[in-house]
Amino acid sequence: MGLFDDETEGSPPPGPSLFGDAPEDNTPKAAAYRVLARKYRPKTFGDLIGQEALVRTLRNAFAMNRIAHAFMLTGVRGVGKTTTARILARALNCTGPDGNGGPTPDPCGVCENCIAILADRHPDVVEMDAASNTGVDDVREIIEATRFRPLSARTKVFIIDEVHMLSKAAFNALLKTLEEPPPHIKFVLATTEIRKVPITVLSRCQRFDLRRVAVDVLSAHFTRIAAAEHIAIASTAIDHIARAADGSVRDGLSLLDQAIARGAEDGAEISAAMVADMLGLADRGFVFDLMDAVVAGEAAKALAIADDAYERGADPGVLLSDLLALAHLLTRMKSVPTLASSSTLPEAERTRGAALAQMLSIPFLGRLWQMLLKGIQEVETCPDRRAGAEMILIRLCHVADMPPPGELLKKLTENPGASFSGGGAGPAPGSGGARAVAGGGMVMAAPRALTFQDVVALAANKRDVMLYAHLRQSVHLVRFAPPVIEMRLADGTPRDTVPKLAAMLEAETGRRWTIALSNLPGEPTIDEAEGVATAKARDEALNHPLVQAILAEFPGAKVENRHTAPEPEEAEIPADWAALVPPDELYEGDE
Ligand SMILES: [Zn+2]
Repeated sequence: MGLFDDETEGSPPPGPSLFGDAPEDNTPKAAAYRVLARKYRPKTFGDLIGQEALVRTLRNAFAMNRIAHAFMLTGVRGVGKTTTARILARALNCTGPDGNGGPTPDPCGVCENCIAILADRHPDVVEMDAASNTGVDDVREIIEATRFRPLSARTKVFIIDEVHMLSKAAFNALLKTLEEPPPHIKFVLATTEIRKVPITVLSRCQRFDLRRVAVDVLSAHFTRIAAAEHIAIASTAIDHIARAADGSVRDGLSLLDQAIARGAEDGAEISAAMVADMLGLADRGFVFDLMDAVVAGEAAKALAIADDAYERGADPGVLLSDLLALAHLLTRMKSVPTLASSSTLPEAERTRGAALAQMLSIPFLGRLWQMLLKGIQEVETCPDRRAGAEMILIRLCHVADMPPPGELLKKLTENPGASFSGGGAGPAPGSGGARAVAGGGMVMAAPRALTFQDVVALAANKRDVMLYAHLRQSVHLVRFAPPVIEMRLADGTPRDTVPKLAAMLEAETGRRWTIALSNLPGEPTIDEAEGVATAKARDEALNHPLVQAILAEFPGAKVENRHTAPEPEEAEIPADWAALVPPDELYEGDE
């Protein structure tokens, strides 16, 4: 009938024996490696893991003899839709070991119908993959077949996988049969995209939602299989696989296959590190490293971490999805603080996650979530997915920390003295990566219009040598509007520069400051500006007639610098020596 299923390619040997090709076959001729997903495909409802609600409902239906004539199974790939469909086909057709049994939720596995269906070769159980048979003619073929009684089964079962792929005409053709199916016909439809199935079709089916299988359920399942296969694998390695499987038993087993294939080389235990390497996770910590860099606005560092991950084979989309998952975890930890002590979380999540969650605000995490969601879609439509992911990371670094523009504007215009947290990191200075800052109170003591130079001078007064040096060397001022400072930091600036600055300003002024990192180029740093001024002064001096005369008189002489005696009022403004002394000397003179 031209009906195929994606899982039947390595199909069982077509030998005449009724027994030799059952999936659990362990005879020597089956020595060729069979992938775990096939070998351990559930044969009964009892074997289905993580789908308790579905199993309970189906059992009740069989017990009460109220079996629908059409089922719709929906769920993400690899959760067991076609497997469930095949178990249903056996449950409907099992005749029991004595050949006299009726429909049962516990098919015997030994009657002719059970065996033939298990081997995918029962003439009355027809599978069609709608992904490659989308047209009305394909459906007509099925409808034609429904007119005939089953050859050897009680009930003909039509399994249509990825049913949402059918054309509109095909759906319409199917609809008539679904409305009034002959009594000996059952349909089992499966789809990953239930929203694409017309409501007219849905309304004629009993619907079952197969759930993503929980990580701990997957871990337990894979542990059992590894034991049955005599595979030595660390429990943490299994946890990695279970998490990466993302709710799909089949994907998880496929990863376990890969891990076994790699580990078999030296026969040693499959370690968590090996699996992490295989999955492209240096270790769980790298997602946290990436989040740290993003939160701190350190684009260069974030890109370096991403580069490293790509080199290990990580997928750009997966990388962002990992960040998204972490944003979700952090938001949950923020909302349910007891999660931090939950034993269901791995060590990294408990410790580093708790620290990050404490530092970040819910609005910040919400914004991060939104940007990542949008970014993940963008990456999938980008011709170069890696470049796409990098653009998203850079955008996150520069924008995620900014207060929402509306909020910023509103607060500043309504109440210039208002304090607000920029939605970024909290106030804890030194917690690493903070940048929107806390405070509240008076403006700096001086009545003069405040400038960024005053802030730098304050750092000198406070003897904060490192901060003073970085304010001069690394800050490209974008906007100075107390209590808001927007700046771009030069690459390599320590991440604690911003929280230190914020803490200093808050301590001095008693008010909350918002220090936002910008991706605008901003002004030259103070050091750069002074360098420009020095060069300009030197050129002027060189052109002075007196200097020219001296240079003519003393060949080889050089103009090193130009000194101008400071005017008294100017010299008083920084109020001390600090602005004139290089940071190193300042430090020595401090203690
Ligand atoms: Zn049976």
